[in-house]
Amino acid sequence: MRAPDQLAQVAGFSSSISAHSLRILLEANGVRAVVVGDVMNETGLELVSVYVHASQVETAMVIIREIPAASEVLIPAWRCLCGADVDAGFHCCWSCGREAEETSSEE
Ligand SMILES: [Zn+2]
Repeated sequence: MRAPDQLAQVAGFSSSISAHSLRILLEANGVRAVVVGDVMNETGLELVSVYVHASQVETAMVIIREIPAASEVLIPAWRCLCGADVDAGFHCCWSCGREAEETSSEE
């Protein structure tokens, strides 16, 4: 399956569930999104990509950047430095608001 020319890839995932989670999030924010690649072929499951219309790429990237859940849908369950157990898929601690990757790098 090939994406039409006017679409641009904004994210790639190894799981279609993650890709669809992002698609739903984008569409909830007014960005039409398409998931491409969540089909099995002879070589196995390909990378699942999320495409949006070229005119909405910037908006999509802002959403992906600004909404933690969008960029961290692949994150596994983790334990915050404050001791709280955070469910998989959540970028920020529900208890103290600390970010999961705060110990590595910040933008
Ligand atoms: Zn915490």
